[in-house]
Amino acid sequence: MSAKNIRIRGIVQGVGFRPQVYRLARTYSLTGWVLNREDGVEIHVEGSDDKIQEFAAALRDQSPPGASIRSIEALETEPTGCRDFIIHPSAGNDRPTAGISPDLGVCVECLSELFDPDDRRFRYPYINCSQCGPRFTVIEALPYDRRHTTMRVWPMDDFCSSQYSDPADRRFHAQPLACSECGPHYYLRTATQDSVLRRDWEAIQESARLLRSGRILAVKGLGGYHLACDARNDEAVSELRERKFRKEKPFALMGRNLEVLRTWVHLSAGEEELLLSPARPIVLARARSELPGVAPDNRELGVMLPYSPLHHLLLGAAAPALLVMTSANRSSEPIAYRDDDALQRFSGLADAFLMGERPIARRVDDSVVRYGPFGPSLLRRARGYSPRAVVDLPVEKPILALGADLKNTITLVVDGQAFVSQHIGDLGQAAAFEAFRETVDDLLTMYDVDRKELLVVGDAHPQYASTTYGRTLRGRQHRSVQHHRAHLASVLAERRAWSERVAGASFDGTGYGDDGTIWGGEIFVGSLEEGLKRVAHLRPALLAGGDAAARHPVQAAAGFLRQLQDPPDFSAQPFSFPERFDRAIRLLSGKVRVFPTTSAGRLFDAAAALLGFTRPVTFEGQAASWLEHQAARDADPYPFPFGEGELDFRPLLEAVIEDRLAGKPVAWIARAFHRAVASGLMQALSQICARHGLGTVVLSGGVFQNRLLLKELRSLLADEGIQVWTNQQVPPNDGGISLGQAALAVFGRFDEPRKLAGREP
Ligand code: ZN
Ligand code: FE
Repeated sequence: MSAKNIRIRGIVQGVGFRPQVYRLARTYSLTGWVLNREDGVEIHVEGSDDKIQEFAAALRDQSPPGASIRSIEALETEPTGCRDFIIHPSAGNDRPTAGISPDLGVCVECLSELFDPDDRRFRYPYINCSQCGPRFTVIEALPYDRRHTTMRVWPMDDFCSSQYSDPADRRFHAQPLACSECGPHYYLRTATQDSVLRRDWEAIQESARLLRSGRILAVKGLGGYHLACDARNDEAVSELRERKFRKEKPFALMGRNLEVLRTWVHLSAGEEELLLSPARPIVLARARSELPGVAPDNRELGVMLPYSPLHHLLLGAAAPALLVMTSANRSSEPIAYRDDDALQRFSGLADAFLMGERPIARRVDDSVVRYGPFGPSLLRRARGYSPRAVVDLPVEKPILALGADLKNTITLVVDGQAFVSQHIGDLGQAAAFEAFRETVDDLLTMYDVDRKELLVVGDAHPQYASTTYGRTLRGRQHRSVQHHRAHLASVLAERRAWSERVAGASFDGTGYGDDGTIWGGEIFVGSLEEGLKRVAHLRPALLAGGDAAARHPVQAAAGFLRQLQDPPDFSAQPFSFPERFDRAIRLLSGKVRVFPTTSAGRLFDAAAALLGFTRPVTFEGQAASWLEHQAARDADPYPFPFGEGELDFRPLLEAVIEDRLAGKPVAWIARAFHRAVASGLMQALSQICARHGLGTVVLSGGVFQNRLLLKELRSLLADEGIQVWTNQQVPPNDGGISLGQAALAVFGRFDEPRKLAGREP
């Protein structure tokens, strides 16, 4: 007879961990107890050595799908003669730092009950258990308890409460538990008539019929509303684009099952695994057949599987097998999640509303993942991932990192755990800025942070809305971190590499530089501990009109092209640049509203413009994405020489122009351009590694969302024997900035902003 005390940390609360421990203890005939602690789960078991061994192994192998174990510690202890195995009430929670679980897709067991006519929860859209269902989107406060969720207004009936209180039941302590007798319901209505058309199953059937007939529906989901229509109905899709003011940005798709998705996209084993994971993200995968209305000029489609019981019911009720499921918003506003707001905002947009009575506690978008050359990469981190702690940072005091203004997220560090918020959006939008402020308050309140102790850190850009907001948080220390250092720091933080020295390329569209110019093609050397020193960059060009140039590739191109020898007439064939280009050139000559930049994103824009993308972009990064999807299978790289700390774009763009004038195919030129950027960057990085005695390279920033560029870089850097680190848990785009800011703040590596510059480089 022996005994062990086992402590488990990670996401182990709100995912059915204790009932699983209980069942395993019974399976191995062990006695003892289990309880939730503020930092995880503690178990005491007694029995034979063998059985305890097997039990401990099973804890890891058979943990519930939503659990994520960070550490298991087992210590020998004295047997106390326990007779049973019991689940103790939680230990007094002072500081709620045990991770809040993200929302979990409906599990297999619940799903089979959902379609079982003999089950009490047959066709009940709010079915869930301790291993699946809503979490972050129903939690109003901690500790995670029924009374702290949006389910508190529906008291459980006897049936549900007997399951809730039975440790042997799959639904033991399933906080959002309900059934059709005692819980909330779904109904169908229009925006204008304040009357319910249909309820429950009839509402779902009618919704499916409306979708089949080409209508647009607003559907309430876990973290907000979706706008849905039949993806194969071109008229419905273009109608949705028009009503939503969304010109070209791709729509996400939901397919009835994997078989359906497989007919539309190529799926690797890794991509299927992502689709089926409890987070159920949108996966960007290579299209088999084009759906031009859904994703114009794009060789990829964003696909996902049904994740809430309602989705399964809707698709099971003969809705079209492939639905457009896009966030309910106009243009780039935040997703709607409150009923009255949704009804008001989409009255002219959705033909009908499929609404559920359970309120959504906070807005959480669908996450977007792509399986790239370096493994899965999150492009938008939200539902299914947030607010999971990304890493333990070596710090005791709380830190609030405010991120950047585009693709904003915030990071709150409490007791060292870095909680990265869900995707918030572009703070230039008033509604998104409001959402940003709500999220700051939400996280600070949820984790009960002592605001007097708080260190606030923001981007070094003096005019960012997030920076300005940070300064209004009075009485707290406010510091800045430079944008591109934050990108690289986000990768180092994910790897827990505090002191490892690396060379890092931080390539994106725009970020405020140390010298007040617009950076975006920067190479640094250093570590989190010693800080990151800029050692090289893209050759500077002038940007006419500042940020406006980011919306017009030809305007961005002007500053790059005017540095070339003997440029051709760009208003003539094959370039046919519009008038805006000449206006930009005049601005540059007059030196009015021109800003020096080293932005790699704008270099991609310039190349896209030369290859025919001469219209304005309708969403961030569109021209670069267009260029990537134009590229053919093979081509030799153009020159992109590195020397004196500068990557010189002139020979590169001259080669593009020459081949374009010679009538070479756009696909070929686009590929040669990508290969040039990869090989130029590789040369720069390997020279810098050699000079500084480094063996690891870090890549971050929005430019590295480009799968083709990463693929080229991976093979080149592997040949050189250099190890490459990219983002895995937070996005390489500005969604990762807040984590990087927090990590540099831990080591006191701040940058103080200087005045905006408007001079020639
Ligand atoms: Zn379940
Ligand atoms: Fe950035």
